[in-house]
Amino acid sequence: MKQVFKVLLACAMAVGLLGCIAAPIEMTPQTEQRLRAQPPIRFLLTFDDGPSASSFWNPTETVLDSLAINPLQPDIKAVFFVQTRATRAGNSEIGRAVMHRERDAGHILAFHTATPSHTNHRSLDAQELEQALTDGCADIAAITGAPPTLMRPPFWSYDKRTFAAYQQHGLHVLLTDLSANDGKIWGFNASPRRRSHMLRSMSEVRERIARGELPVVDGVIPVVVTFHDLNRYTARHTRRVRCVTVLSRLNCRGSGTGSGRTMPTENLFKVRGI
Ligand SMILES: [Zn+2]
Repeated sequence: MKQVFKVLLACAMAVGLLGCIAAPIEMTPQTEQRLRAQPPIRFLLTFDDGPSASSFWNPTETVLDSLAINPLQPDIKAVFFVQTRATRAGNSEIGRAVMHRERDAGHILAFHTATPSHTNHRSLDAQELEQALTDGCADIAAITGAPPTLMRPPFWSYDKRTFAAYQQHGLHVLLTDLSANDGKIWGFNASPRRRSHMLRSMSEVRERIARGELPVVDGVIPVVVTFHDLNRYTARHTRRVRCVTVLSRLNCRGSGTGSGRTMPTENLFKVRGI
């Protein structure tokens, strides 16, 4: 069965500030014509590395507030790739409470790590990896009532061995089409280059779409966008994510697996600006 995961959201990010990364690829009349022939685009919002365990101005809580209430589209749904055994994240009372809130709000909880730190799965031996996957799936099931079906490997790093282990746990790998480049969490995290980076990346994805390189799912082209909810800069600016055109189902594309399952009904958003 073809992929059936689809969270179709749409957004364009305005993260402010100046930058000097390569300029966005210019839209040519030919690209414009090709885009018109392509199905509509939907963006899936995903957040990695959380939930925050901070008792002071919790950035994940801020992200959740903004997804629920913002001037552009209320009640946006997202996928949270969580770290269940990291003390700065899910292995804390606050972190667990935040994951419950994510579940209650209808977001998807998915697997990211279940080691004390953000450890690359390829550095774990077979037993350690098995333990991490067993722990993480159980941790998430304890909150949602069911083991996760989606995962994103830390550092997007996987190989045949780790991929096979994910499959054994029923986990579908979801990678990233567009990254906000906000993985730096501590210290100064308001990158002046981020807006330029995003605009450049969006124009690159637009070119791929025009060339027909992205798969079509249920009549639309899903584009997976990655943020990091531990990043306070991202948290402060989530309200500026622009989402329009609410559809009726939440789906997403499972990169690398080509298969998936239908997700619960959620909101979909069509992005403006790509
Ligand atoms: Zn991560």
